[in-house]
Amino acid sequence: MPAPDMPRPDIEAWLRADDPERLRELWRVADETRRDYVGDEVHVRGLLAISHHCVRSCAYCGLRGGNAKLPRYRLSAEEILEGARLTAGLGWGTVVMQAGEDYAITREWMADVIREIRRETPLAVTLSLGERPYEDFAAWREAGADRYLLRFETSDPELYAHIHPPLKPGEPNRIERLRWLQELGYEAGGGVMIGIPGQSYTMLARDIALFREMDLDMIGVGPYIPNPDAPMGCAELEALELPPGEQVPADETMACKVVALTRIVRPDANLPSTTALATINKASGRQLGLERGGNVIMPNVTPPKYREMYRIYPGKSGYRETAEATAGNLREFLAKMGRRVGEGQGGRKRAPR
Ligand code: SAM
Repeated sequence: MPAPDMPRPDIEAWLRADDPERLRELWRVADETRRDYVGDEVHVRGLLAISHHCVRSCAYCGLRGGNAKLPRYRLSAEEILEGARLTAGLGWGTVVMQAGEDYAITREWMADVIREIRRETPLAVTLSLGERPYEDFAAWREAGADRYLLRFETSDPELYAHIHPPLKPGEPNRIERLRWLQELGYEAGGGVMIGIPGQSYTMLARDIALFREMDLDMIGVGPYIPNPDAPMGCAELEALELPPGEQVPADETMACKVVALTRIVRPDANLPSTTALATINKASGRQLGLERGGNVIMPNVTPPKYREMYRIYPGKSGYRETAEATAGNLREFLAKMGRRVGEGQGGRKRAPR
């Protein structure tokens, strides 16, 4: 039976499991763990994509600075506040401001926006603005930001270096920055993509063991989706070679296994059912994520005219639906699963040790 303290080789064995009977056992334990530790509430976060500009050159991502095909936008402070008001008005407890790594979003400007959201609304503020300096993280925490999402993408140093060129040689990696965020008192959110070309089962099992070791508050995991406008998606960048049978597939079952194992090793963390999973299975990806360990969803509250432009990968699920329509459908969708929309800000509630 999969257990919270299972050693890394057992995690890897579960990633390789394909017997339907065994997988049913994995889904059952993950769902029971979720119910025991975080209950039936599903916390809804309004996701506001505040800028499409990015200085990075990540080989997997459509937002990368080198992608000349994308029209770029940046929301005004007023547009961001509108998004926050909309989120609060729909009864959701958190606004997540996400962007490319955009230094036109200055430390001071962002701090003012955070203060204004905290003044006007009861929302928790989550940021996902990339690998910013320590001083920016500190100023935004001081201004009232509660949480920060920064997936480390892979804990394998060679694969990370291959897909994620640094801005400056020797800069701190995402795992080090997550430790800064923890030090500053943020609820810290990490995560990885599943099925990155060159990612082996052993690497992915290490990622999951690291979620446990780092005691992350939030963990976002989703399948890698090739973007033809990025070097890895158009095969301009060759994958690191792996022995036969070692490449992790970027499919729905693998994504569900990672959600389930993550829930089991980090039982009280907040885990979203991600948009990437809902993108590769539009009919039931969101539901599967919630049934196999997830307890958070992040509907898009970005003004509709900008959504089409925020193309991290093609075919992104749910970008046409208005936030109001999502809110209307959500209660019914969750009720059918015996779940309900979470009350309040939905921060991490630590299980007693
Ligand atoms: N700039 C911020 C950052 O890098 O953390 C936030 C935006 S970034 C686009 C958010 C996440 O999208 C990344 O951490 C990565 O895991 C995911 N992502 C990017 N390209 C992807 C792809 N092709 N398939 C699946 N997920 C992808």
